[in-house]
Amino acid sequence: MTYIVNDNCIRCKFMDCIEVCPVDCFYEGENMLVIHPDECIDCGVCEPECPVDAIKPDTEPGLEKWLKVNAEYAAKWPNITAKGEPPADAKEFEGVEGKFEKFFSPEPGEGD
Ligand code: SF4
Ligand code: SF4
Repeated sequence: MTYIVNDNCIRCKFMDCIEVCPVDCFYEGENMLVIHPDECIDCGVCEPECPVDAIKPDTEPGLEKWLKVNAEYAAKWPNITAKGEPPADAKEFEGVEGKFEKFFSPEPGEGD
């Protein structure tokens, strides 16, 4: 089991989740974060920290797509362990439907 990040994170990236992860298993894309499924220890402390409900345990049904996205991009993107500045327009993208299809970027973020 692992926790995953879904597309509620896209263009929000508030990054409250990163600060609490005891094993630093978040990875940064250009406009979202993912969790490395093999590094996550399922502690669950990040889930309530996310203000947009983007983090879920993969035991919930229907999350196979996100598990694949998290596994694929955690292997490609840089590790991020410290909270940075969220995008200035993050609030405008909160709750927008279909963000993966509209806005997902496979490009890496800066990491730290
Ligand atoms: S707190 Fe939520 S929206 Fe923000 S970076 Fe973490 S998973 Fe993404
Ligand atoms: S469940 Fe725990 S180990 Fe996994 S990403 Fe969240 S804080 Fe990190």
